[in-house]
Amino acid sequence: MKDKLAELQARLAEIKDLEQAAYVLYWDQNVYMPPGGAAARGRQTATLTRLAHEKFIDPDLGRLLDELQPYTESLPYESDEASLVRVARRLYERKSKVPPKFTAEFENHTATILEVWKEARPADDFAKVRPYLERTLDLSRRYASYFDYEHIADPLIDGADYGMKVSTIRPIFAELRERLVPIVQAITAQPPADNACLHQHFPEEQQLAFGVEVIKRFGYDFERGREDKSPHPFTIEFSIGDVRITTRVKENDLLEALSGTMHEAGHAMYEQGGRMDFEGTPLAGGTSMGVHESQSRLWENLVGLGRPFWHHFYPKLQAVFPDQLGSVNPDAFYRAINKVERSLIRVEADEVTYNLHVMLRFDLECQLLEGSLEVRDLPEAWRARMGADLGIVPPDDRDGVLQDIHWYSNFIGGQFQGYTLGNIMSAQFFEAALQAHPEITGEMENGEFGTLLRWLTDNIYQHGSKFTTAELLERAVGGSLSIEPYIRYLREKYGELYEL
Ligand code: ZN
Repeated sequence: MKDKLAELQARLAEIKDLEQAAYVLYWDQNVYMPPGGAAARGRQTATLTRLAHEKFIDPDLGRLLDELQPYTESLPYESDEASLVRVARRLYERKSKVPPKFTAEFENHTATILEVWKEARPADDFAKVRPYLERTLDLSRRYASYFDYEHIADPLIDGADYGMKVSTIRPIFAELRERLVPIVQAITAQPPADNACLHQHFPEEQQLAFGVEVIKRFGYDFERGREDKSPHPFTIEFSIGDVRITTRVKENDLLEALSGTMHEAGHAMYEQGGRMDFEGTPLAGGTSMGVHESQSRLWENLVGLGRPFWHHFYPKLQAVFPDQLGSVNPDAFYRAINKVERSLIRVEADEVTYNLHVMLRFDLECQLLEGSLEVRDLPEAWRARMGADLGIVPPDDRDGVLQDIHWYSNFIGGQFQGYTLGNIMSAQFFEAALQAHPEITGEMENGEFGTLLRWLTDNIYQHGSKFTTAELLERAVGGSLSIEPYIRYLREKYGELYEL
C-alpha cells in the first residue's frame, strides 16, 4: 500500500506541476506580457491545462484510488493519507464526469464571449452579447446535466464551494437579506458621510509603499511572495513557498490600492499558511471560494477598516501624506473609509450593501438555470431587484447586468455565492478568534497581528483543503454557518457610526 500511495503522490505532483506552470504563464500574461504575446500565450496555457486534465482523468489514476480506498478506510478520517485519497477522489470524479470535448467547447465559447463583452460593456450594448450569453446558459445547463443534483445550480456551486447547495444557501441568504435591507434603509435615510478626504491626489509610489508596510505587519511573507501591479488584482500560488499578489492604484482614491492589497494579502496568507508537506498535493491551497473570501475580507474589512487598526496606522498614514491628511482628524477619517451608500457597482460597494449585490446575482443565476428567467429579460430583472433591495436603479446596462466579468468568462451558476458566504464566515472566524484571545484588539492597536494570524493558521490555514467548509467551521467555531456574528458585527460597528 505504501508503494501505491507513493505512486499516487507522484502522479498528483506531476499534475500540480503542470497546473502551477500554467499559473506562471497566467501571472506573466497579466503583469508583464506585451500585447503581441496574447495568441501564443492562450495556446500555451491551454496545452498545459489540457495535459493536467488528461493526467487527472487517466483511468489508471482511478484504479489506484480504488485500490487505496479500503486501506484508507481503516485510517482515521483526518489522517493525511485518508484525506489525500478522499480529496483526490472527489476531484477525479468531478473531472471524469465531464467529457473533454465539452470542456474544449466551453473554453472556445468563453474566449469568444469575453471578447464580445469587452466591446459590449463600454458600448452599453446588451443585445450584442445576448446570443452568446444564451449559449453560456445552455452550456451551463449541459455541464450540470453530467451530475446528479437536487437543484440544477448545485453542481456549479459544488465546484467552488464543495458541499454547499441551493437548498442550504437559499434560506441563509433570504434571512440575511431580510436583516440587511432595513439596516441599509436606516443608514441611507441619514446624512451621508463625507469621504472627500480620500479623493485627493495620492502619488502611486507612496500608496504602494504604505500598503506593503501594512501587509508585512499582517504577516504576509515577502520571502515567499511578492506584489506587482495588474489591471485586476489577484492572488496566485506557484507553490506554498511562492504565493504572489497584485494590486492596482488610483491616485485619486486612497482606498483602491490599500484595500486591494489587504484583500489579496488575506488570500495569500491563507495559501502561505498551508503545511509545507502538503506541497505538490491537492491538499495544498484553500478549501473553498467561501473560506478563501472569508480570509481576504477578514483582513481587508474586519481588521483593515476597524478602529484598532487605524489607531496604529492613521498617524503613520498622515506622516506619509501630511498635506492631504494632516488636518483630517482620526474620527473623520474613520467615518470616511466606512461610508455606507446606495451604489450601482458591486466591487465598489461598502461592507453593509455589498451582500445585497451578491445575493441579487446568486438568485438571478438560479432563476436562469431553472428556466424561470430568460436571458432576454435579465436586464429588467436586474433593475427591478436593484430597486427593491438597494433603492437605486442603474440608468444603463453597463453599470447593471454588464458590470461583472463572471458570466461573460465562465459558467452561469456558482460564481457569486462564495463572496457572501465569505463575509458571513469572516465574522464567525473573527469572533471565535477574539473570544479565544481577547488580547487581539489591544495588539491590533499596536500594529501587532501575530496572535490573530496564529489562530487563523492553527484553525484554518494549516489544514489546506483537508477539511470541507462545514468541517472547518465545526472545528474552528464549534458550529455551522450562521449569520448572527456577521449581523452582530455590522450592528455594533455601524450602530456606533449611524443611528440604527
Ligand atoms: Zn477575493
